[in-house]
Amino acid sequence: MTSGAGIYFDGQTSVRHDVGVTLGASGLEIAGRDGGLLAQWPYDQIEGMAAPDSVLRLGRRGSATLERLEIADPQFAAAVDERALHVDRTGLRQRRQRIRVIGWSVAATASLLLVAWFGVPAIAERLAPLLPAGIERKLGDAVDLQVRALLDSRSLGAGFECGNLDSEKPGRAAFDKLMQRLQAAAALPLPPRSFVVRRPEANALALPGGKIYVFRGLIEKADTADEVAGVIAHELGHVAHRDGSKAVLQAGGLSFLFGMLLGDFVGGGAVVFAAKSVLQSSYSREAEAAADAYGAVLMNKAGGNARALASMLDKIGGATEPGMKILLDHPETKARIAAINRLAAARPTAPLLDASEWAALKRICAG
Ligand SMILES: [Zn+2]
Repeated sequence: MTSGAGIYFDGQTSVRHDVGVTLGASGLEIAGRDGGLLAQWPYDQIEGMAAPDSVLRLGRRGSATLERLEIADPQFAAAVDERALHVDRTGLRQRRQRIRVIGWSVAATASLLLVAWFGVPAIAERLAPLLPAGIERKLGDAVDLQVRALLDSRSLGAGFECGNLDSEKPGRAAFDKLMQRLQAAAALPLPPRSFVVRRPEANALALPGGKIYVFRGLIEKADTADEVAGVIAHELGHVAHRDGSKAVLQAGGLSFLFGMLLGDFVGGGAVVFAAKSVLQSSYSREAEAAADAYGAVLMNKAGGNARALASMLDKIGGATEPGMKILLDHPETKARIAAINRLAAARPTAPLLDASEWAALKRICAG
């Protein structure tokens, strides 16, 4: 069977041409009813296209138009099938497109997996400094709900914060004054919000967006207001360097990256995981050294005693945050103390709070 009937569309108009199709020596010859040649398709340029089972629909590969040929006669279709090697009744072109789409999906999935396994720390490192302050604060607030729940192990609720009872209010006023002195010198884009909370450890904690928890134990351990201020100045260094955001983005991983894109941080277990990591993991040695340097310079700027940060580190073994190992008498802590003292201004300073303010701050959690 070397010829048969078909329907030809030239791809430029919607006109159906009833045509005679001949299997020529090198290709299909498509002729109109009047015998005039409409098209000649070399066998190696013929492609199958998706069509109902009863029809063989062909296209010409590389054709600029959507010209196509339909053959309904099964015997003639089989003959064409045999000659034109590229004909594929299941629709090769569509299948190729489908493969391309699947390929992209696979590539996208693979890249997400790569990011999850290898890339998130690097991405978090690069991304955190680019976060707009408002987004960072939102991130911090989402984590804060969980962090507060984890820290408030005795479920004190509103009473978890010191400084709200009448007897504690002078302490709160002194603490606010200390924070204002530090913020005036730090001039962070978003003013930090900080609280003293009823936790026994001599620690402090900075969340993304500038929320700082100062633990009651730190104030109890400190001998001067400047020692408390020194540790808070160190925490402000973590805020300025976006260390909290980096840690949270690393821990929350892709969920957070997607949450950020979708504008929703609160959904999902990533927040819980991120909050736990904020409390349990510690920053790198480099991040700590950078926060120390920031803290020392900030204390100088605020007119305080930068050496107070060093003396406080000495007392608490260098563990400024929860989750850090206490390294009392450890060379690493000694090196940090020496580095802070090198940065400290030589001139004598006045304490950031006077004696009565410091006495009030000491009683901020007295209840
Ligand atoms: Zn630190």
